[in-house]
Amino acid sequence: MRFQDIVGQDELINHLTEIIDDGRVSHAQHIVGDERDGSMQVAWAYLQYLCCEHRVHYHEGPLRADSCGECPSCRKIATLQHPDLHFVFPNPPNGSPTVSSADYMGEFRKFLLDTQAKGTLDDFNKMLSVDVKTSMIRSTDSAHIIDVLSMKPYEGGWRMLVIWNAFKMGTEAANELLKTLEEPMPKTIILLVDNYDKKILPTIASRVQTIRLREGQHDDAQQNAAEFAPMLVSWLRLLFKLKMKDLSAQVDKMSSMDREQQKTYLNYVSDVMRQCYLQSAAGLPCRIGSGDEKFDAMFPTMVTENNIELINNALNDALFAIERNAYSKLAFMELSFRMSKALKKR
Ligand SMILES: [Zn+2]
Repeated sequence: MRFQDIVGQDELINHLTEIIDDGRVSHAQHIVGDERDGSMQVAWAYLQYLCCEHRVHYHEGPLRADSCGECPSCRKIATLQHPDLHFVFPNPPNGSPTVSSADYMGEFRKFLLDTQAKGTLDDFNKMLSVDVKTSMIRSTDSAHIIDVLSMKPYEGGWRMLVIWNAFKMGTEAANELLKTLEEPMPKTIILLVDNYDKKILPTIASRVQTIRLREGQHDDAQQNAAEFAPMLVSWLRLLFKLKMKDLSAQVDKMSSMDREQQKTYLNYVSDVMRQCYLQSAAGLPCRIGSGDEKFDAMFPTMVTENNIELINNALNDALFAIERNAYSKLAFMELSFRMSKALKKR
């Protein structure tokens, strides 16, 4: 995950990269924000930037810096295969007294990759088919945290731990974690991630630095649905037929919006694709709102684990091109071809 993939948080990101560049990284931080506003994306991109071997600095454009996305460290973090990157998250009981996040790590990694870290705790629980009320962060998780943080890092760099939905930590688990927060080990970073209205225990809150996201990206997106749905639906229909003349007219229409609208539109498309994927993979409801029930029922089946990554990449590249003031007609045309190809791979 690179910072360029996150929408609407440029100011916060510029602040974070400056602190990392200055070497003023605080060992325990609390990222507060809705996943759909990018809270978990910020955590992911933050660690990728922290470990990047060739950070990139820009003289123009909205972002001042980003990870390179290509060095071995970036690749391992982007694919969640870095051996020193650990996750703890609310996990459901499975009948065993030793159950912890470790038992669901494969599912969690897949969930992050598939949703590009925009999935919520509700989405994750539905994917696991469990009741949200029984999911929690347990004392077995704290024991796991203490274990992994006491190991020597494999790669000789940072030891990284992300605690997703830390508010789900029971008192016992929190008390065990406190010692780790009070006596930080060198080259160790712990990121706690929680939604706006969720509270962590005061003893923990007083020992972490808070990073707050710009709220409302996600609410805006909901409002935009009504405005953008017709445009998206006619575009999707054309992607199946690929009649050049019609597609070209559609691309003209999309690129005639102003740049901010184009970005919002792409963000909206990416949200719809995420919903379609969650419907086909986990049966979650998805509303495209085409007014044509047949189309609304058919389209989500086109987005599967075989193409969600291709679709995400194509959308992210288009968004990046438009943020960098590229010729938007070209960006939308290229996106159309890539989307059309990806949809055929379902
Ligand atoms: Zn890198």
